[in-house]
Amino acid sequence: MADERSVTRGDGRPDSGLKRREISGERQAEDGGVDYALRPKSLDEMVGQERMREKMRILVQAARQRGEALDHVLLYGPPGLGKTTLSHILAHEMQGNLKPTSGPAIEKAGDLAAILTNLRSGDILFVDEIHRLGRVVEEILYPAMEDFVLDITVGSGPSARSIRLKLPRFTVIGATTRLALMTAPLRARFGVVERFDFYSRESLETIIMRGATMLETPIDGAGATEIARRSRGTPRVALRLLRRVRDYAQVRGDGAITLALAQEALAVHEIDHLGLDDLDRRVVDAIVSKFSGGPVGLGTLAASISEEDDTIMDVVEPYLLQLGFLDRTPRGRVATKAAYEHIGAAYPESPGQRSLFEE
Ligand code: ADP
Repeated sequence: MADERSVTRGDGRPDSGLKRREISGERQAEDGGVDYALRPKSLDEMVGQERMREKMRILVQAARQRGEALDHVLLYGPPGLGKTTLSHILAHEMQGNLKPTSGPAIEKAGDLAAILTNLRSGDILFVDEIHRLGRVVEEILYPAMEDFVLDITVGSGPSARSIRLKLPRFTVIGATTRLALMTAPLRARFGVVERFDFYSRESLETIIMRGATMLETPIDGAGATEIARRSRGTPRVALRLLRRVRDYAQVRGDGAITLALAQEALAVHEIDHLGLDDLDRRVVDAIVSKFSGGPVGLGTLAASISEEDDTIMDVVEPYLLQLGFLDRTPRGRVATKAAYEHIGAAYPESPGQRSLFEE
């Protein structure tokens, strides 16, 4: 079973990055305890995502009124936006137990069978990175989710026979950063599918203020705004930057976070005013200078800066797309005028000039 506090990348594999990224939305070792402590405990305590929270309130209330387990819920979106948090909240609101696991942790059919046969009525099975479940494991999950039965084969060879076990009524909450990689039959098993969006600056400010209160760190509005602005729309990043600024305030200041102090602290970490770090800038710089602005394929781009495709796809691209720095075209990634301006490069107005190195 996956340890929630271990260092994982979005795909559940160990974080192999040589340099730790403060602005990565992915969970890192030190986030463990703090994430847990700062995690909102109810739908009302959760900040932002209003539309989705309202839908969840109705879902929970309807299930409770009928005395039924919650429908299966699939949550998707970039890392650090609150998918795990919402799963815990749903379990709490349904007064059920949350059993956390992840796609890569369930390697064999037997692993899943063991998990399923240990569930009790009303339990919530949280499967992080659900797109990484193996085919065989998935096929066991289908009847379990649909009919609450588990088909297992006993014995082998001619004497092998299949027996069907009844399972208690439970709920699967799946989370993924890559909805497109999920198979259609698995997706179809979920009654509710919800996307997480990046958070507004105002929501992040509220999350930062609340975090600072819990960490007993004085902060003013301008300081919170500055941290929020550089947090890439991601609560996990906001809380991590808050901790970095708090360290700086403690060592270089009087412990309180102000605008000037937040700016100084974040400059030390080379996080610019939009929340871009060295890796983001290297990606933009590579598209602009090595590939004449694009289009360039993901694999080629990743190889050109010695990074993994997944890192670029999960943690760099979504935010660059959100900022309008990147366009994803069928032929590859293209840098926009805003991206050129951000890194101080001249934008070639004639498109011909930008297609010299097309793949
Ligand atoms: P994900 O599962 O999407 O990677 P998490 O649920 O682990 O993200 O969220 C990361 C951290 O960000 C949480 O521990 C929590 O403290 C904080 N967080 C996420 N969403 C919210 C929210 N809506 N309001 C307040 N804090 C949040």
